[in-house]
Amino acid sequence: MSTFPATRLRRLRRTGALRELVAETHLDLADMVMPLFVSPEALPNEALPAMSRHTVDGLASAGVPAVLLFGIPEAKDDEGTGAWIDDGIVQQALRALRERFPELLLLTDVCLCEYTAHGHCGVLHGGEVDNDATLDLLARTSISHVEAGADAVCPSDMMDGRVGAIRHALDDAGYEQTPIVAYSAKYASAFYGPFREAADSAPSFGDRRGYQMNPANVREALRECELDLAEGADVIMVKPALPYLDVIRAVRERFQVPVAAYNVSGEYGMVRAAAARGWLDERQAALESLTAIKRAGADIVVTYWAKDLAAWL
Ligand SMILES: [Zn+2]
Repeated sequence: MSTFPATRLRRLRRTGALRELVAETHLDLADMVMPLFVSPEALPNEALPAMSRHTVDGLASAGVPAVLLFGIPEAKDDEGTGAWIDDGIVQQALRALRERFPELLLLTDVCLCEYTAHGHCGVLHGGEVDNDATLDLLARTSISHVEAGADAVCPSDMMDGRVGAIRHALDDAGYEQTPIVAYSAKYASAFYGPFREAADSAPSFGDRRGYQMNPANVREALRECELDLAEGADVIMVKPALPYLDVIRAVRERFQVPVAAYNVSGEYGMVRAAAARGWLDERQAALESLTAIKRAGADIVVTYWAKDLAAWL
């Protein structure tokens, strides 16, 4: 093995073209998914523009190939009825987007927390989220999304058995070709803060640690992925992304399926806030963050920078 001076690693770093030639990781807009919030009334967010709420009429494609829809309904109740009704906010958005942008990939977040008055991800029984009673509602929500035009459904609730319940329900309804993108390793994270504001989904009591994962665990993440795959998940997801790059890497190495990572609102918000103070350059920090997530092993990245990336790349 040759050493210095025969070997000089700086040779391949000398120009931009050389660096690009030997880059091991590339960002491609085709791998990015833009979260999109839809509600009866528009609510611009100046500090975090990607987290603005749009009306059904105001929805635009944002120049990205894929979107992940979240709905903020007009009314909430204990069961989260707004999640699965035929004229729910996400169902309306799906029909409008499908007609306006036939090529746009439409993914939907499947959960009840935006629709329940208590803000938890499932129905309550004795002050706790009732796992099994929630499964049927998640399945109904999934079917109504697919009926309205969703290309894939993405359960984010972290109930045990939800992927299997949704798979069976979709198959029974004739949607055996619709993939499930499972939020398999979803952690109870402080980095969801800006999202809860944007989606109006903060729990009215307690927290989500009874169903979302403990940030301390990685072996458990692999078990979650294994179970979701056994139940029929087509893509498995790790959420959040940046504080969990080791989890993405572990999942990548263990499973031969597409892996998604969710670059969450707090990750986006921290960079935006620091950039607003002139502490760092948003574009550089965002590109570096997204490159790190892909380098860790993610095939697909859900990111609030997807729209900006369309302009940057
Ligand atoms: Zn939820």
